[in-house]
Amino acid sequence: MKNKRHKTRSIWIDITFSLTIILLTGAAILLILSPDKHTASSPDERPSAPPLETEEIDSNYPGIKIITKTSNDDIAPFAIQYPQSTHSTFNEKITDYITNAQKGYLEIMNSKKTFDEKTKGELNISYETLTHSSGNYSFVLVNNSNFSDSPKGQTEIRSFHLNPETGESYTIFDLLDGNSHRLNELSAIVQKAIEDDSTLQDHLLSKDVELYTKPLWKNFRNYAITDESMIFYFDEHTIADSEIGPPIISIPTAKIEHLLVDVFKQVDDKTDDTKIENSTEETDSTGVEKNDTTDDVDAESEDPIQNESSSDSNETVPSSKKVALTFDDGPDPKVTRQILETLEKHNAKATFFMLGSRVEYYPEIVKEIQEAGHELGNHTWNHADLTKLDTERIIKEINNTSAIIEKVTGEKIEAFRPPYGAVNDKVRAQSNLQIVLWDVDTLDWKHRNPQKLLQNVKEHTKDGSIVLMHDIHQSTADGLDAVLTYLENEGYQFVTVAEL
Ligand code: ZN
Repeated sequence: MKNKRHKTRSIWIDITFSLTIILLTGAAILLILSPDKHTASSPDERPSAPPLETEEIDSNYPGIKIITKTSNDDIAPFAIQYPQSTHSTFNEKITDYITNAQKGYLEIMNSKKTFDEKTKGELNISYETLTHSSGNYSFVLVNNSNFSDSPKGQTEIRSFHLNPETGESYTIFDLLDGNSHRLNELSAIVQKAIEDDSTLQDHLLSKDVELYTKPLWKNFRNYAITDESMIFYFDEHTIADSEIGPPIISIPTAKIEHLLVDVFKQVDDKTDDTKIENSTEETDSTGVEKNDTTDDVDAESEDPIQNESSSDSNETVPSSKKVALTFDDGPDPKVTRQILETLEKHNAKATFFMLGSRVEYYPEIVKEIQEAGHELGNHTWNHADLTKLDTERIIKEINNTSAIIEKVTGEKIEAFRPPYGAVNDKVRAQSNLQIVLWDVDTLDWKHRNPQKLLQNVKEHTKDGSIVLMHDIHQSTADGLDAVLTYLENEGYQFVTVAEL
């Protein structure tokens, strides 16, 4: 009896033990065979933060990194790619957009799940980089979301703009210089392009075309610009039915260029045939920059040293050293003002060689330059190479410019700097103005780099030097403080050309 009971108990122990082993083995096999099984549990049991991966790599465009974020979440996966730069304002604009897009997508997913738990979504944001020879980039973000309960996805296109070197970001307002007449013209050009577009023909919502191409800045805010074309992106179901997604209208840049600020004008267009590229020594520099903006043509670089007084330099008496800083091709509403502030900070005086065409446009900046005590100089009306013009045109280029500066400021102009430093006897004969060239070329138009600006000044400046810079490049404004600090420490006094 005792023995039997013992036997019975050991049988139960055996059975229990065997069952345990079988169950454990089974569980182990199940785990091994289906490692993903746990992710298929109900939404409530899913980890609150789905697995997220972020990757950061350099793009092919200098100064631009590509950020990639992916989530393989079962219900609401996403793949997002966007650019980041070294400029925080730009970076924040993009990340704000991305954050909101993600938030919106998750909100839609949550509300859809309350009706049907099995609804799945997908969010994809990718982008394209379009470049312009001015150094400005257009980033076109394509935001596409799909949901398993609706047959058609949604696509939204947004553009972001950056000059990675200067940090400048041109909105459509900046691009047209905030000019409403130009906006009117742009609106008409785009409207016509839409009507002429054969792929849109059967899809146009004609009443809405009018509405969404009205001359309002917001209608054209999503754009990209290259040397060849300017592209406008419209939202789905605005100018055309949603069948064709967001309409994209491309217009040859040449058709629009006359509306754009100078930075986006190309060399060949601003210059009429009277302004032939260059005189002999300058071929190299302009050749290199040929596709760049008009302002870059300002390859005044390789010009002869004019300033003979520089040989008087006397390093042992620092306080007697003088330098004349000169700024060409302005005025520019942003860059010139920043330069004025920096000059004021260092109590420095400089000379501004201005283009008549820009003086006409920004008279208030010219007055600010004058009121700050700087010297005003003539740099022709249209940045023409005067050696290539007939006498009548030379006189016009010079005299009209002096006239408008004098009209704006009431001040008589005495200094004249010929564009490219291009001057010959014929040009000299047309004017009584003092011709001012330079001996230190910072090449700021070419490198657009504050460090290189400083380096060129360090290497070449001596007592009596005339330093050539341009108040149309953000990098020059950004680098000026360091240049002034350096020259101050070297004992230089900043004077105008007339005072030199
Ligand atoms: Zn110039």
